[in-house]
Amino acid sequence: MIVSGDWAGKRYAVLGLARSGAATVRALLAGGASVVAWDSEAAKRAPFLPGTGRGTSEAGGGGGATGGSLVAAPLHHPADGPPPRAGEELMVAPLDDLNGFDALVVSPGVPLNTHPIAAKARDTGVPVIGDIELFAQGRASLPAHKVVGITGTNGKSTTTALVHHILRTAGIPSLMGGNIGLPILGQEPLPAGGVYVLELSSYQIDLTATLDCDVAVLLNITPDHLDRYDGFEGYAASKARLFAMQSPEHEAIIGIGDAASAAIARGLSARGEHLTKIAPGVCMDQSRWPSLQGPHNAQNALAAIAVAKALGVGEADIDRALESFAGLPHRMQRIDVVNGVAYVDDSKATNPESTAPALAAFPRTHWIVGGKPKGDELDACAPHFGNIVRAYTIGEAGPAFAKILGSHMPVEESGTLDAAVRAAAARARAGDTVLLSPACASFDQFRDYEARGAAFRTAVEGLA
Ligand code: ADP
Repeated sequence: MIVSGDWAGKRYAVLGLARSGAATVRALLAGGASVVAWDSEAAKRAPFLPGTGRGTSEAGGGGGATGGSLVAAPLHHPADGPPPRAGEELMVAPLDDLNGFDALVVSPGVPLNTHPIAAKARDTGVPVIGDIELFAQGRASLPAHKVVGITGTNGKSTTTALVHHILRTAGIPSLMGGNIGLPILGQEPLPAGGVYVLELSSYQIDLTATLDCDVAVLLNITPDHLDRYDGFEGYAASKARLFAMQSPEHEAIIGIGDAASAAIARGLSARGEHLTKIAPGVCMDQSRWPSLQGPHNAQNALAAIAVAKALGVGEADIDRALESFAGLPHRMQRIDVVNGVAYVDDSKATNPESTAPALAAFPRTHWIVGGKPKGDELDACAPHFGNIVRAYTIGEAGPAFAKILGSHMPVEESGTLDAAVRAAAARARAGDTVLLSPACASFDQFRDYEARGAAFRTAVEGLA
């Protein structure tokens, strides 16, 4: 567990008790803080309640965190390891009143632009932070280490996993955290010389104030998540803060393929040699990197190589790691080859910008597209329509996408993923690729993009 010496005796409110929130509560308690925690879902509160070893009592309606009817008693469960230090305490209660807290810790899933807790925090002057900020506060207590922070609209997970893989290949202790892997505060600290590789969404950056990354990476910025921001500028400004938090002599690596990222890079030109710009369309041989195909992965690989070099990793280790990288599920993942036709799962591509590079990757593609649309056009994909043999539309966006695509290519309105896979299998010939790269969210027909990818795999397995 990662714990800061600064937390002792402080009082934290924690909103959101999913994985990272739960790890946050445990770390704060271990650090000697007192915590009032809440989640609107009873099931997420349950592990912290009496009888489960952690909690004392749950407020019965309106009592509030400071209502006086709740007594926060010291807590400890033998399964949690050594006994608590003095002052360790936890209370599960709705966060009606934030007076007296040192900070409100929220999970990045809480939409702060609309959630009432944000106004409460503003009114009481309580800082709103996330677990990455608590990690930043805990850094002074950790053995000597470096932090790499990776953000961008698309490619974060791939680049984070690739950097981690390169470091491991080079024998450098490393762990992944943030938007990927296990909650950062719940992980065991690395030995001296280790590197924490953090995938940071813009929400996580918004909740972070003092993270000084040794290497900070911005891959790209395209419109996404605009429901949470005051327009595109607000979203771009959130990404820029990763560099504003950095000491100027630390390394900045920025993809300059879009205007917003290029503008951020221009703003950092005073960094001189500590700024590395990744230009789009750099030609390189990706043939020995099976899990890093397509122009988007060229960008991700270049960014990861720049990070590795900044951390002093040698060329031979970098080369070996690029060749042995296994990729991440649902990102251009080759599921199977059936009758000479490759089936590729890119279910993670939930907007047209992330689908575009997948369309660029293969010359004869049968494209399964659709789901819950994030917009009403597919303009970002248009430059690669020449690679599409036929499109198969699914989900809520199906009819509208069929109309858009109909003038550019043959289209079938398949409706469901199953039907689309069967139709594509019937049309495809050896050497073709059947690609699920939906350019849409999944929630109209699936629980999440992972469930959509799993359904694709099942449908493909059904063909054999
Ligand atoms: P993130 O974690 O930012 O969502 P991932 O690495 O999980 O990114 O990739 C998600 C999808 O985005 C991939 O399936 C791919 O289609 C697309 N993608 C990956 N890297 C890039 C990139 N550098 N530029 C544009 N799109 C990308």
